[in-house]
Amino acid sequence: MLIPCLACESRFKPDEYFSACSDYNRGLDLVSWTCPRCGNRDDLRVLPGELGFGYPHRGRFDVHDRVRVPGLRRQRGDLRLDISLDRASWRVPTRVRQVA
Ligand SMILES: [Zn+2]
Repeated sequence: MLIPCLACESRFKPDEYFSACSDYNRGLDLVSWTCPRCGNRDDLRVLPGELGFGYPHRGRFDVHDRVRVPGLRRQRGDLRLDISLDRASWRVPTRVRQVA
């Protein structure tokens, strides 16, 4: 199972792909992803069995494209998202924003 970058079409093993996730946005239920190859930044939603790509719209995130990842699971925490696939898991923390 390889997961593509939608910008440069490089394909990544799950460990490489999910290790590139950062900053879980709990409000919009999104993680940021930076392509290790081309540096493209994308926001995506981790869903059971798939990844959702789309656009923020009126304070929501509408999923337009889906990439199937059979067996993908997710668990939302207070300041993190836990992603698991087969026996591996990744934790994406929420970046705590300082209030000026
Ligand atoms: Zn890329």
